[in-house]
Amino acid sequence: ATPTAVMVATGVGANNGVLIKGGDALERAQKIKYVIFDKTGTLTQGKAKVTTTKVFSGMDRGEFLRLVASAEASSEHPLAKAIVEYARHFHFFDDNSLIEDAHNNRKESLQSGWLLDVEGFSAVPGRGVQCFVDGKRVLVGNRNLLSDSGVTIPTHVENFVVELEESAKTAVLVAYDDNLIGVLGVADPLKREAAVVVEGLMKMGVRPVMVTGDNWRTARAVAREVGIQDVRAEVMPAGKADVVHSFQKDGSTVAMVGDGINDSPALAAADVGMAIGAGTDVAIEAADYVLMRNNLEDVITAIDLSRKTFSRIR
Ligand code: ADP
Ligand code: MG
Repeated sequence: ATPTAVMVATGVGANNGVLIKGGDALERAQKIKYVIFDKTGTLTQGKAKVTTTKVFSGMDRGEFLRLVASAEASSEHPLAKAIVEYARHFHFFDDNSLIEDAHNNRKESLQSGWLLDVEGFSAVPGRGVQCFVDGKRVLVGNRNLLSDSGVTIPTHVENFVVELEESAKTAVLVAYDDNLIGVLGVADPLKREAAVVVEGLMKMGVRPVMVTGDNWRTARAVAREVGIQDVRAEVMPAGKADVVHSFQKDGSTVAMVGDGINDSPALAAADVGMAIGAGTDVAIEAADYVLMRNNLEDVITAIDLSRKTFSRIR
């Protein structure tokens, strides 16, 4: 391709909201053999919502949610934000005790002070959060967080967790004073175009892959919905770049599509890194392409543009 053709293609990309950082990136995209998609916020809308709460202890649902929200309040994780939002809504709109409070002229619960005092907060990457309330340890996160902390998961709870995961939900387990007290189910719907894009890539001879820090069962259920067969789950935040490298081993050209801080090493490691425009700045910086419309169809647009510009005979 001539320099003019490259310039024209870059312009066509820009007009479609596909920002291409240089001619080399444009050229590499024609050879893409694997597209590795991050799950949360890339294939899914990144709008997690609590769909289920199950309290296994005798604790009142409102108190349970207040405790969980207090633990999650300092976390930046999308799951944490979904949980705090849900608990806040429950506390102010669905909880009958609020009506009693109103009768008693107790206004404080309407202010931000509805959360409990928390000490020793720490985020455990790829696992969840830990803190102390009234000197008792509170753990909110996945199975590994609880088992690493020596909390046993009773069979009936494990069964409930499996049920959630098989319906593509992420289960968040909660322990108080090292006893398992409840589970929340969080759902994050797929982007509308996700399945069509996956099918389109396969028709182009490109193999879609999904990578996620989420557990295997949820990951497989989401992958099944979107039509992806090749899944890597329970990948620690630092491990996504290793997944990219494993696909590059035989010399294949690998694209990574992601939105999060966690994804930036993988975006940099990939032959072609594509960041979702609505993603974090770090991801956008690490990528070769930025998909400004936040639409996965532009992964196909980008590959098409490169193939047409370099009119490679396949
Ligand atoms: P991903 O965003 O791809 O799910 P992460 O590494 O951020 O990957 O998280 C992996 C898993 O760790 C999550 O699916 C969840 O089970 C658990 N986790 C992480 N942070 C939190 C949190 N603040 N609250 C509850 N669970 C969490
Ligand atoms: Mg993500």
